[in-house]
Amino acid sequence: MRHIAIIGSGPAGYYTAEAAQKLWGDEVQVDIFDMLPVPYGLIRFGVAPDHQSIKGVSRRYEKTALNENVRFIGNVKVGEHVTVPELMQLYDAVVLATGAPNDRELDLPGKDLSNIFDSAAFVGWYNGHPQFNDLNPDLSGQHAVVIGMGNVALDVARILSKTEAEFEGADIVTHALQSLIASNVKAITILGRRGPHQIMMTPKELGELAALERASPRVDRDDLPEEEEDMLLEPGLRKSVNHLRSFAAIPESVHAEKPIEIHFDMFASPQGFEGDGKVQRVKVERTEVHQGRATGTGEMYTVPADIVVSCIGYRSSPIPDVPFDERAGKFANDEGRILPGIYCVGWARRGPSGTIGTNRPDGYSVVEKIAEDIDAGTLGRADKKGREGFDAIAAERGLDVVTFRDWKKIEEAEERAAREGAPREKFVDVEAMIRAKN
Ligand code: NAP
Repeated sequence: MRHIAIIGSGPAGYYTAEAAQKLWGDEVQVDIFDMLPVPYGLIRFGVAPDHQSIKGVSRRYEKTALNENVRFIGNVKVGEHVTVPELMQLYDAVVLATGAPNDRELDLPGKDLSNIFDSAAFVGWYNGHPQFNDLNPDLSGQHAVVIGMGNVALDVARILSKTEAEFEGADIVTHALQSLIASNVKAITILGRRGPHQIMMTPKELGELAALERASPRVDRDDLPEEEEDMLLEPGLRKSVNHLRSFAAIPESVHAEKPIEIHFDMFASPQGFEGDGKVQRVKVERTEVHQGRATGTGEMYTVPADIVVSCIGYRSSPIPDVPFDERAGKFANDEGRILPGIYCVGWARRGPSGTIGTNRPDGYSVVEKIAEDIDAGTLGRADKKGREGFDAIAAERGLDVVTFRDWKKIEEAEERAAREGAPREKFVDVEAMIRAKN
């Protein structure tokens, strides 16, 4: 029997478990650890609540989870309740699938003013992450600034713009929904330090802005390069740029029908925040882009901002005893191998890029590496204790482990509590989750 511990129950974790199952069948036992009592990581806490079809992929992970040889071990924090060296003693391979839950820091003057958030916190707040339950963003002002031109910036701008009716069918948590319904935001500026040809937004997600009920996307025509230059772009980016061109062509009369404006401010690099205790303005430097690189022009201006959300990418969290690449914000690894017996996968391996599906080949590839290392004899003894050994530790330390069956009880309670038309009302604190399974 092979024993594999996977740390993190998001897409990368479940695809790795699926791959291990496919390769070794009954000859493998997989334990998937999560610090929270609920599984699926990014699917539950990262994917936007109005993108339910994307969240549907969790049904595939459930199939893997329901297999007898795969266990979910929720409510256990690796590095605190049990250490990585302890797990390495018990399992043939330990795979870190911990994602990238921390934001890249935007270390600018004024960053400590209130009502400036990073995307992990803001997205976590509307998605019911227990850590950000009490964020309480103040949406009473008219001006919001979203920093970054990736899909997370798009999610945040869209969520800030939607009407109550547009959230029908979404699993946005009720406290966030109520706060958004009462919001006074009328102008959302998306700041990008480079230009239209360097955006990271994908076409489907960008196109959604044109269909919003009360918000209209606005792009300055002068920011767009000559149309024939688009021919050099890869097809996805070309489609995204086409959306920007169509936004630039929206007539004023159409903008005027919508009370919220989503303004793309490109060639605009944030330099600091100003305000009196609470943020009021973002200081911005105009840039020029040559061969994809932005340089400041020295021209400074300010953008009104009653709330700021910085969406500039993520970093993984280091784990004690595991080599970490500080500069890249991910585990130090060679194609998923960190040290003999310890591996990483998904965002923890390659950084925060790609779609959810990108994690599938990643999971299969790390399992191939484990198999190669087993064959080469680099993983040591083949008589590790696996789950039995962990169960002994859990009993000795009195850990309140949440199993997949427990999770199904939590899930049922969330489904019962759902608003009309919504799939679930998520519990937003760990104690409530634990109560629901007991
Ligand atoms: P991202 O795609 O890497 O975009 C980050 C943005 O922040 C870029 O525009 C980047 O500009 C900008 N940025 C970085 N540092 C900056 C700075 N110091 N000042 C100003 N701007 C700065 O990251 P993301 O939006 O967090 O998305 C992460 C991943 O999740 C991506 O793969 C994304 O596609 C995926 N995702 C997908 C969906 C979906 O499919 N629906 C939804 C959400 C997220 P530069 O390019 O100039 O560095």
